[in-house]
Amino acid sequence: MSKAIVSSLYESDVFRMACRQFDQAADAISLPEAIRDRTKYPRRCLAVALPIRRRDGGVTVFEGYRVQHNLSTGPSKGGVRFHEHVTLGEVAALAMWMSWKCSLVGLPYGGAKGGVIVNPRDLDTTELEHLSRRYMQEMIGFLGPDIDIAAPDVGTNEQIMAWMMDTYSNHVGHMAPAVVTGKPISLGGSQGRREATGAGVAYLVSGYLQDLGIPLKSATVAIQGFGNVGSEAALAFASRGLKVIAISDYTGGIFNPGGIDLQKALAYVTATKSLMDFDGGEAISNEKLLELKCTVLVPAALERVITDKNAPKLQCRILAEAANGPTTNAADKIIAERGDIELIPDILCNSGGVIVSYFEWLQNLQNYYWSRDEVIQKLFGILGRAKASVDTQKKKFQFSRRLAALTLGISRVAEAKQSRGLFP
Ligand code: NAD
Repeated sequence: MSKAIVSSLYESDVFRMACRQFDQAADAISLPEAIRDRTKYPRRCLAVALPIRRRDGGVTVFEGYRVQHNLSTGPSKGGVRFHEHVTLGEVAALAMWMSWKCSLVGLPYGGAKGGVIVNPRDLDTTELEHLSRRYMQEMIGFLGPDIDIAAPDVGTNEQIMAWMMDTYSNHVGHMAPAVVTGKPISLGGSQGRREATGAGVAYLVSGYLQDLGIPLKSATVAIQGFGNVGSEAALAFASRGLKVIAISDYTGGIFNPGGIDLQKALAYVTATKSLMDFDGGEAISNEKLLELKCTVLVPAALERVITDKNAPKLQCRILAEAANGPTTNAADKIIAERGDIELIPDILCNSGGVIVSYFEWLQNLQNYYWSRDEVIQKLFGILGRAKASVDTQKKKFQFSRRLAALTLGISRVAEAKQSRGLFP
């Protein structure tokens, strides 16, 4: 495949953004030209049509993707997103970031990602089950415990992982839990997986607050996105003594300087499926939430929400990227020039999810299950070491923290590719 074909296949703002990050990191470490494109571009992708019978008797054909970015360092690993704005380019960018993330924290995985163009709220439970099963059915041969392992992302959850696991297991003729992670505990899910990403975000933020000499109890937090990652991060922040003053979802946000009642918010979302009209504070738009004065700002929804327009207006001390790719290249530059915001880059900040997914996969392969305490202790051990290695790299080369994380992640993948050589 020529470079031009690969680039046009994935052409999109978000893929260009991931490529720009790669180019900056490759330049910073003088990555040899001969290894650059091999390391940068996704290895392969699959696009599938997913015809689903609807409740009214009609048929709708949905479009789904899987992109495997790197298969040189182990099977690939990455979530499956169900969202109406999914594109092949977005999935490719997310797969790229998974490669650098797994490499950065030392997991024996390459990066992958999947997606289906659908608003899951438009489907009833039966339709959602059929779509999830059909997606996995179309991926047989492309996914597998030794090939590529799926997980939840935006719009997917434990139930969807259970249906996908069941579909794959029916195909191979025995239970094969290691093909997906983020499963219910009763089907081989790991203790601690549901809260892993959010707990990891709170662990890292607490470490950086300590480095800055800011007491946890004086810190305020604003979180965009109140799904798996955002809500679990909120709970983890609160349990560490930080005050969550704003939360939001796709319908808008809530601001309460006295602190949001998180249990009440969670119960409300469980009952009504969104934060719309939640009376736990004053209504606020998603845009305004990002510009609130707070100690910690946590984008935990979609990509490219911190832009050159709002980056100059941010009023946080720490920007913790719980979402993947929330900050555009232009905003990154502005934040670096400002110099008053500590940015915890996505590939470090939200890596708790894939770390515990790795633990889940290991437990499935061994049929030997760990306690929650063991999982959390091992998770924080890996995150603590990754934080230290990123900060050492940052200091040693005077890099931004994003560049430090990317150069570590990318150089290890490039080194593995170099050592394997080229086939044939
Ligand atoms: P989710 O579907 O559980 O939650 C997403 C949340 O974002 C929901 O509250 C939704 O309403 C909100 N949202 C959607 N569109 C929005 C918009 N335009 N403005 C504001 N809010 C909006 O998804 P998740 O698993 O929590 O994932 C969130 C982010 O974290 C994504 O970037 C994902 O890639 C990343 N991530 C997830 C995991 C994981 O383990 N689930 C791990 C690492 C990174």
